[in-house]
Amino acid sequence: MCLFCKIIKGEIPNKTVLEDEQFLAFEDINPQAKIHVLIIPKIHVDSFNEISSELMKDITSFIQKVAATLGVKEKGYRLITNIGQDGGQEVKHIHFHLLAGEQLGALV
Ligand code: 5GP
Ligand code: ZN
Repeated sequence: MCLFCKIIKGEIPNKTVLEDEQFLAFEDINPQAKIHVLIIPKIHVDSFNEISSELMKDITSFIQKVAATLGVKEKGYRLITNIGQDGGQEVKHIHFHLLAGEQLGALV
């Protein structure tokens, strides 16, 4: 079982920000910004390459709720999903990084 599936099962503790039947948002263990939250589906999907458009639709609404819960919707935030080896994906369970709470440096 992958690391994030173990977190979903409660075998590894996490600091939950928001949860519903389909998704979990929790604090990253090694934050890269003042706010760094990971958002994952509770069903295992390897990466963005495999996610269905239906699940993508639902996770979009959930991510918007996470941003509202964190109070960062107005000031802004960054969403990142790393895909595969060249994308720097270390955990093979799709996750969106939500970075916020400060002025983030330009990436592109
Ligand atoms: P990736 O590099 O795959 O896009 O991101 C994986 C993220 O998972 C990293 O930002 C890393 O800090 C985070 N991470 C790895 N192990 C754990 C853990 O056990 N708990 C939490 N909360 N985050 C983790
Ligand atoms: Zn998994």
